[in-house]
Formats: sequence, C-alpha cells, structure tokens
Amino acid sequence: MPYLTANSINNAAPEMPLAESVSAPATSHFREFNQTIKHTSSLGQDTLLGPPNGRRLQCLAMTEYDIDWDKVTDEATDILSRYIAIDTTNPPGNEEPAVRFLEEILRKDGIEDLTFYDASDETSKGRLNMLARLPGDGTAKPIVLLNHTDVVPVERGGWDEDPFAGLIKDGVIWGRGAVDMKGMGVIELIAMLLIKRLGIPLKRDIVFLAVADEEAGSEYGAEFLAREHPEILNAEYVLNEGGWGTTAAMGTDRPAFNCAVSEKGPCWLTLSTEGRPGHGSVPHHDNALDRLLRALQRIQEWERPRTVGPELSAFFAEAHRGGYLEEKPTDDSIKAMAEENPLISALTTNTISLTTLNAGVKHNVIPASAEATIDCRLLPGTDAEAFIEELRAVIDDPKVKIERALVSSTPASPIDTELMSVIKDVTREHVEDASVLPSVSTGFTDSRVFRNAGVTAYGLIPVLLEPAEAVTIHGHNERVSIENLRLGCQMMFEIVRRISS
Ligand SMILES: [Zn+2]
Repeated sequence: MPYLTANSINNAAPEMPLAESVSAPATSHFREFNQTIKHTSSLGQDTLLGPPNGRRLQCLAMTEYDIDWDKVTDEATDILSRYIAIDTTNPPGNEEPAVRFLEEILRKDGIEDLTFYDASDETSKGRLNMLARLPGDGTAKPIVLLNHTDVVPVERGGWDEDPFAGLIKDGVIWGRGAVDMKGMGVIELIAMLLIKRLGIPLKRDIVFLAVADEEAGSEYGAEFLAREHPEILNAEYVLNEGGWGTTAAMGTDRPAFNCAVSEKGPCWLTLSTEGRPGHGSVPHHDNALDRLLRALQRIQEWERPRTVGPELSAFFAEAHRGGYLEEKPTDDSIKAMAEENPLISALTTNTISLTTLNAGVKHNVIPASAEATIDCRLLPGTDAEAFIEELRAVIDDPKVKIERALVSSTPASPIDTELMSVIKDVTREHVEDASVLPSVSTGFTDSRVFRNAGVTAYGLIPVLLEPAEAVTIHGHNERVSIENLRLGCQMMFEIVRRISS
C-alpha cells in the first residue's frame, strides 16, 4: 500500500536501491528509558524528571510500572519471528492458523474475552477474524488496536533470505509482514499483554482486533465485520497502519512520524463497449475498440482541479512548524510542489490510472467488444457518485458502459483529539527531535471502515524506518530491526496506557 511519508516527498523516485545492510543511524534517535515507564496516577500524566543526558534520557520519576524492556523485546522478537513463519499470503489468505497462534498467546496471559468471526464461504476457507478485549469501567468508549493477519505475496527470487522462515540475523527480523503488518500486530499484542500483566485499571475497553483479507480488499475481514457485526464499530479510537516514522524528512536529517488521519478512496471502474465485428480490411464506424479508445482519450484530457484539503494543509503546516520545511507553505506553494512530485500531485487531486485494456482476438478481426479498467482515487470527502457522473459527462458517449468494481470513500479523522496529543507527547519523549505529522495516505486501509462509522482512526506504526527499509514493504526483503520493534512496543504501550487509564 503506497503511503505518503514525509520522506517520500523529497524522493520523487521512491524506488531506492535496497541497501543490504540496515545501518545504525536509526538507533541514535532513540531515547533509552533506562528505568521503566513511570506513572503519576493523580494527574494521569507522566512527568519526566531529570534532564536528558546526552541522547539518553533517564527517567527518575516514581516507578509504578516495572517493565524489563530487554525481556519484553526478546518476547516480542520471538513472537514476531514465529508469526512471520505462518504463511498467510493473500490470496488465498488462510488466516486461521495465524489467529490460533495469537489466541494461544493471549490465553496464556489470561486474556480470555475472545470472540471469533469466521468469514469463510464456499469459495474461501480459513478466513478467521478475532477480537480480544481488556475490559474498562465503561466511562469512555473503546480503543481498537487494529491489525491484519494476511500478507501480500512475495517474489522469492528477489529475496536474500527466506521470507517465511522468521529469520533473526544481525539484530534484524526478516520476512513478509515484518512491518506490514505482523510487526505492528505484535507491537499491539505486547501492549495488551503488558497492560493485562500490570493490572492497569482502564476507563475504556482495549480491543485487539486481528482481521483477515486486508491486502485483497477486506471482503473476508473488516468489510465483513462492519456488515455482519457492526457492534465492533462502537469505539472512540482506532490505531492502525497507514503511516510510520522515517529517519529523515524532506531533506532534513531528523526523524518524523507520519500519522495517517485520512486516506484517498478507491473508485475502481470498468468501462466497456460493444460494436459490430468485421474484417479488418474494411473499417467501419462501429468498432468497439475505437469507441473505447475515444472514451479513454477524453478521460486523459480531462483536467481536474487541484485542491489542498485541510489535512494536507495541516501536514505541511506541521512540517513547517517542526522545522522540516523552511518556507511557510501556502496552497499555491503546495500546488507548485504537486507539479513536480507525483505523490503530492496525487494528494491534491482525484487521480485516474488506466490499468488494463482488453479487446480483440486476431490481427485482422474488428472486435465486437472492448473493456478497460481504470483505478480512480478520490480525495477524502469526495462524493464518488458525483465523480462517476462527471466522468460519464466527460466520456460523453452513452454507449460506453461504466461498472463499479470497488467504490469506497472515507471522511478524514479529526486532528485535534486527546489521542493525537498523547501520540505527540509519547513520540517526543521517546525519539529525540521527532515531530508527528498528520498525513494522508494515497492507499486505502481498513481505517476507512471505522472512519465511515464516525470513529477516529489513526494510522501509525511506531517504528523509525530508513528509506531503504521502507521500500521493502510490499517489496523484496521486508524486515524490521529488533531496536525498532522495541521502540514500537515502548511507544504503543505508553500511548495505549495513557489514552485508556
Ligand atoms: Zn498492511
């Protein structure tokens, strides 16, 4: 799933060569919590006492929660390694063994409030989803830790290591899903386990929701749950994938965490035409392929306006405030950047990519039918039906049929929330010089299902990736460093604990 990250803005060509070594600089940004996460229950707020000691931050405040992060990191590493080894390549998905694996870990820690949702049907088996709950006292609505158990396929030839061995080598965990999204799932799982072990009183339920089929459109996962079990949508917040931290942003050698507050909506359409077949040696005016090409030509020439939505404005404003962008961004300067940068371009307009074209059987036969698929991505808040009507007017040919393959739009989540403040605080405390930038994702995630139900959903995998690591997501050699897994566990625990207790 293509994400906009602050770093990709400055890399017009995001396909960077895959560095074989995962170099160390990421770790230098980490603030080490030598002691433990501390807690002042009276204010429900943590106070950091003692000045930063170089890049290391000593936490000297009272320690209510005694967490051995070395041990937790070992545990997380072991779980992720074994989780990656359960091949849930989608298609076909077959997520059930992954769910059973997570179930066993949860039960071992006494988390027994588990609900299973089997979305399997005649054509697809083993499509199991699972919800685990840590109960709160009900004074606040639940927070959902959302993660998908399926992974995208691999091209084995491109990998230096076995993508499903769960290999741990030189401080790095290799394999498909290491980041997207089994790594994040483990980070969320660890937060559940720690909060349960520590017996932290909760004002809201913490819900760990492991879903199937995200990588293939969520028909057996989040979409199924929203349709058949809408009670799962009764939450205040969702934490999901959608963004992550990068070690450098916009040419500045400083880390930034992209927290997705919104995403573009897919509007996948099939255009088809019919005409009169005939001999290629005698052209006529009812050639189905001619008709389709005329329609596609008009679509290509359709100039759609650029707009800078409030979320994108906020992203650039925050980047400026954080010192990543020297000049104060304006709508005009953002639009100017969009002319140069395909990602910013995609975030300022409804895009259309022609993706497939099918017609014809033989060199000298005029085809009777032709078909094209187009992948349109709509800005948050765009009315998909109005867009399709506009497209119909642009094509201006009633003989071109338009069919919907996948249409899903989503509103943006608000930026000014208690959860966002917590994310910002926790980020600042853990990673020196880092800012949180509210970002918009060009790809879609399961967050859309929750946002459409009015739930605030943020996409943030709390790890700090080098550009060379980030491109391995959905690519070859996906991997995550143990150091990053540790950071993710620390940040997630702290974020979830603060917002829930
Ligand atoms: Zn994913």
